[in-house]
Amino acid sequence: MSHVFPRHCHATLPTAVGGEGCFLIDSDGKRYFDGSGGAAVSCLGHSNIRVREAVKAQVDQLAFAHTGFFTSDPAERLADLLISQAPGDLDRVYFVSGGSEAVESAIKLARQYHVERGQPQRRHLIARRQSYHGNTIGALSAGGNAWRRQQFGPLLVEMSHIAPCYDYAERRDDETPETYGQRVANELEAEILRLGEDSVMAFIAEPVVGATLGAVPAVPGYFRRVREICDRYGVLLILDEVMCGMGRTGHLFACDADGVAPDILCIAKGLGAGYQPIGAMLCSAGIYDSIAQGTGFFQHGHTYVGHPVAAAAGLAVLQEILEQDLIAQVRQRGDHARAALQARFGQHAHIGDIRGRGLFLGVELVADRASKQSFDPAFGLAGRLKKAAFAEGLVCYPMPGTRDGRNGDHVLLAPPFIASEAELDLMVDRLGRAVDGVIGAL
Ligand code: PMP
Repeated sequence: MSHVFPRHCHATLPTAVGGEGCFLIDSDGKRYFDGSGGAAVSCLGHSNIRVREAVKAQVDQLAFAHTGFFTSDPAERLADLLISQAPGDLDRVYFVSGGSEAVESAIKLARQYHVERGQPQRRHLIARRQSYHGNTIGALSAGGNAWRRQQFGPLLVEMSHIAPCYDYAERRDDETPETYGQRVANELEAEILRLGEDSVMAFIAEPVVGATLGAVPAVPGYFRRVREICDRYGVLLILDEVMCGMGRTGHLFACDADGVAPDILCIAKGLGAGYQPIGAMLCSAGIYDSIAQGTGFFQHGHTYVGHPVAAAAGLAVLQEILEQDLIAQVRQRGDHARAALQARFGQHAHIGDIRGRGLFLGVELVADRASKQSFDPAFGLAGRLKKAAFAEGLVCYPMPGTRDGRNGDHVLLAPPFIASEAELDLMVDRLGRAVDGVIGAL
C-alpha cells in the first residue's frame, strides 16, 4: 500500500520510474507521451543534459545558503538573465519555490508598496471569475474558480471578481472581439469605482488562462485597456504567467504578445522545467525603490527563497531556451500541433473550440456545437478523458466545467518545446482516440 497522500484518495496511480525526451515511463515499462508537461511544467522534456548537469554541479559546489545571510552566484545570474529579457521596467526578482508562493509574494508586495507610500486604504484585490492563481489561502482567494473555493469559504480573503475575457463562450453575437474585449476590460474600471477610487491595490490576471479555461488568450486590445485603467487609478497590474510564461506561448513572456508590461510578474512551472521546484516574482524598479526607501525590507520570506540548486536549474533552463532558439521552435511546432488538432477535431460534433498560443493549446468539449452547451457535469467527462488518454499512453490535462456551467470541459495541451512534429501528431492521434472512446460510450 502506498503511504503517499495522493490528490485523489481513491486513485491507484502508476509509479513513474523514468523520463526520456517527451515520454514518461512507469514501472511496467509503459511509455506515456507527456502532452501536458504535467501541468505545463516539463518544457524541455525529461532528460535534458544541460539542466541535469547544472543541478548536479551545483549540489556538489553549494547545496544551500540561506538568503537571510547570503546571495549566490546562480541566483544572481538567473535574476540578471531574466531581467535582461523581461518586459517594461521590471528589474528586481524575488525567487520562491513555486507558483502559489510567487502569487502570495505578489499580493503581499502590492499591499506593502501602497502602505509604504502612505495609502493603507488600498486593500482590495480584483481578479477574474473562473481563474486560478494557486492553492495557498491568499492565492486561492485571488482565484475565481467556484469549485476550487467552495470548501474554504470562511477562510478566504474578501475579493472582487470581474468577468474573464473568454471570447468563445461569452462574446455576444452583436460584438466584435475588440468591442467585447473593451466591454469586459471596462468591468475593471466599474469595480474600482464601486470599491472606491483609491481603495484598490492591484488587479491580477493570467494573459493566457490555463487550468481553469484551457489556453484562452485575451482578445486583442483587452490588456492594453486593462493597463490604462490600472494606470489611471494607481492600481498595480499583476500578471500571473506561472503557467503561460517561459516561452510556452511562443513569447518568453506571454504578455509580450499583448503589448503590455505589468508592475509585477509571476512565473514558475517552466522556469525549473520540472528539474527543480522554483518560481519567481519580478517587480518594477518603482515598487522596489518605494520599499527600499521606506522600511527597507520586504516583509515576507520563505526558507527556500533563492535556493542555489533551484536557481542553477532555472538558469540552465533559460539558457537552453534562449541559446537553442526554442521560442521560434515553439511557434513553428505550435502551428503544426494546431493544424493537426484542426484536422482531427475541426469538424468533430463535440469539439466546440480549438485555441491557444504556441504550445499552449486547448480544446473545448461541448454537448452541442451550435448552442455551445456543456456536457452534464454528472458525466464526469474530464475524469473519463484523463483515464482514456492514459490508457492510450498520453498524459493530457482535462478539466471539468465549473458547477455554474459557465466554462465547459476542456483538455489543456502543453507538450515539451522539444517535441517533434511526429510526436505532436502522435499526441493528437491518441487524444482523438480517447475523445471518441469516451464520447462514444456516453
Ligand atoms: N497560477 C497559475 C496560473 C497556475 O496555473 C498555477 C498552478 N497550476 C499556480 C498559480 C500555482 O502554482 P503552484 O502549483 O506551483 O503552486
